[in-house]
Amino acid sequence: MPNSQILDERRRSIGFGDGSGILCDTNSVSGAVSQRACVYCGARVVLNPITDAFHIVHGPIGCASYTWDIRGSLSSGSELYRNSFSTDLREEDIIFGGAKKLAAAIDEIVGKYAPKLIFVYATCIAGVIGDDVDAVCREAESRHKTRVIPVRSPGFSGSKSFGYRMACDAIMRLISPHAGAAKTRGVNILGDFNLAGEMWIIENYLRAVGINVVSTVTGDASYEALIKMPSAELNLVQCAGSMNYLARRMEEEFGIPSIKVSFFGAADTTNSILRAAEVAGGAETMRRAKIFTEQNEAELRSFSERYRPHLEGKKAAIYVGGGFKAISLIRQFSAMGIETVVVGTQTGQPEDYETIGTLVSGDAVILDDANPSELETFMREKGADILVGGVKERPLAYKLGMAFCDHNHERRHALAGYEGVRNFTREIHLSMNSPVWDFLGEMKAETSPAFH
Ligand code: SF4
Repeated sequence: MPNSQILDERRRSIGFGDGSGILCDTNSVSGAVSQRACVYCGARVVLNPITDAFHIVHGPIGCASYTWDIRGSLSSGSELYRNSFSTDLREEDIIFGGAKKLAAAIDEIVGKYAPKLIFVYATCIAGVIGDDVDAVCREAESRHKTRVIPVRSPGFSGSKSFGYRMACDAIMRLISPHAGAAKTRGVNILGDFNLAGEMWIIENYLRAVGINVVSTVTGDASYEALIKMPSAELNLVQCAGSMNYLARRMEEEFGIPSIKVSFFGAADTTNSILRAAEVAGGAETMRRAKIFTEQNEAELRSFSERYRPHLEGKKAAIYVGGGFKAISLIRQFSAMGIETVVVGTQTGQPEDYETIGTLVSGDAVILDDANPSELETFMREKGADILVGGVKERPLAYKLGMAFCDHNHERRHALAGYEGVRNFTREIHLSMNSPVWDFLGEMKAETSPAFH
């Protein structure tokens, strides 16, 4: 991308082969058309997988369009979270206030369903008109003797990461009254959302080596499991972008230490199982973890070798939510013989970008909070064969005639653990080596301007 085409305010958020000093974790630049989601979306993505909670969106109906059906988190119990509830604020409410409507919505839900847990999301409009959502929730809680927790998430009040923090604050509000519970031997898994059953894969691994899981946050979580969180002896933090803050607060307030893990890619999965066994188990757990990981890696080796000739030498672009996923993906691509030439995240932290800089080659482009124009230009320039991203990046790849892999919350197939490596490898191969790209090449050769 010619230097002159990069917006001046964006220059410090783009690095070339070097991730140190990249400006990140700040509000998006006005007018840059960020790919990043709003504060409310950040909070909702964290809390929505709690299966038996009611999620009331206090705002216009448009904010409520963000529902379960565009996210793939699964449940082993309640299906309540698949419903959407909105106060549907309209002109009259904006003039006279929406607090009464919100109180009535809570009363209606309590009357119909008698839930144990309700989250109320404050959206942009609630923030602009100044509804006291906290007070409405407080009064409803004492009126109904049920947990009604406000989520302070007006979309304009910061970045998506701020929404993560608001969600974590809401979880702390839920679990803090249970801080005095007796300790249980076992761990909490933070930051996996059970997309296509990935939390179950991780839980099965831990149980196979002898580690007990106390609560999952928030994939396949329930009210009863969440309130047990303070009794765990260790937090395993998978999606560091969304859960670092919760882990830090739990350490400060409940004395629960944490370690970072990632179950994306074979190497990271193995390291995470071994590390969890080292910290949460004894010698026997460690022995079992070594056998378990060696067996799984050996089984995976012959599978990966079969695919390698089809993948070696290709180039990948990555644009995902958090830094931990980008790092795991670069490692996974590298193990497959694929070079990452463009990599960006919505909510990466300085340490994530430093690590990314050590994993990519000298001229790879590293971006924080990218916009479509930057992604398109850099992907073309670097000759990427495939883009790994989420729902907002899919049309971008297809418009460029480029293969795409969905690694976000909308997908219906598991990409975590050793099973996930198999699914990921197959998908990358099928997508990147599809004959459709040859067909497209022929159409381009016919010089239609639409393809240039
Ligand atoms: S930016 Fe505001 S209006 Fe848009 S979805 Fe987020 S909270 Fe709702």
